[in-house]
Amino acid sequence: MINVTKTFLPPQEEYNEHLKKIWESHWVTNQGPLCEELESRLKNYLGVKNLLLVSNGTIALQLAIKALDLNGEIITTPFSYAATVNSIIWENCTPVFCDIEDKTFCMDPSKIESLITEKTSAILPVHVYGFPCDVERIGKIASVNNLKVIYDGAHAFGVKLNGNSVFNYGDISTISFHATKLFHTIEGGAVITDDDTLAEKLFLYRAFGHMDDDYYTVGINARTSEFHAAMGLCNLPRISGFIEERKKINLLYKENLKELPIDFPEIPYDIFYNYSYFPVFFRSETEMMSVKDKLLDDQISARRYFYPSLNLLPFIKGESCPVSEFNASRVLCLPVFNGMDEQLIIKISELISLVLHK
Ligand SMILES: *Cc1c(COP(=O)(O)O)cnc(C)c1O
Repeated sequence: MINVTKTFLPPQEEYNEHLKKIWESHWVTNQGPLCEELESRLKNYLGVKNLLLVSNGTIALQLAIKALDLNGEIITTPFSYAATVNSIIWENCTPVFCDIEDKTFCMDPSKIESLITEKTSAILPVHVYGFPCDVERIGKIASVNNLKVIYDGAHAFGVKLNGNSVFNYGDISTISFHATKLFHTIEGGAVITDDDTLAEKLFLYRAFGHMDDDYYTVGINARTSEFHAAMGLCNLPRISGFIEERKKINLLYKENLKELPIDFPEIPYDIFYNYSYFPVFFRSETEMMSVKDKLLDDQISARRYFYPSLNLLPFIKGESCPVSEFNASRVLCLPVFNGMDEQLIIKISELISLVLHK
């Protein structure tokens, strides 16, 4: 089976080099030297001030909501993975859905202000597929209305705006290092912030709220382990190469699919993009499903990222978001992974073409 992504695994000897260090020190978790090294390398690579590794991208969102003392309503996007909205609800806040833009699939800033009430405490947009939100406009709206901003940057590893990491916007940015993401540590994630006071709070929250025998606050266990950090240390030096390779995959798909009645997102010209996903939008859900089934017949699994539009989840009574609902109904993410064979891209394109020309 060809999946929508294939987790990159480094040469085993390379991973073993790190394991040797773990066996020598017997330091397996609790922010050991490999976690420290990865944090420092990630800060450098991304160009961010404070970055704390955590155990996954969902707990990163929960810690961010906690650290900002959010309550009441949080304005968020319906076009994302369920983890975004789940974290809001898990932290006892109410999600209020703001529809997305048709071009970037990110939250539509022109629709935010009408959703603000006296209960609103924050805006939580997603740089979906790695496309940056309109951070300038969202920042202005937040400051005028005294709201916090958390960006879910689970897809945005390495993405830059005007040469600056997209993680440098908002009060806190979160990221996932799950095995399906561009940069992974098997499971993992991080919280990123410019604000040193917030970083200290996050530091305490990550490990039970204490340092040695000094207990400051209620905390949780959101740590990651040396084994996970080791995977990150193997993968990080390869990221620039991964992005280059994915760019080629993206262009080859577009070249092969260009005659077909399919919409592709436009990559904004003024960003450094990471090519983390290749979403295609069909004319209708029926057409998308025929393509999905056709690919499955050939053992190729394309995925409905992101479906359903989160305002339609059965346990949520969200406001209607027509742009998100329409796009969620007809989108399919085609397989993209490092080491992908050109022939596979051509084959997938031909299968899609067969369905659409029927
Ligand atoms: C993957 C993902 C998450 C959750 O990350 P985990 O590390 O799997 O917990 C959160 N938000 C978005 C948009 C994601 O795609």
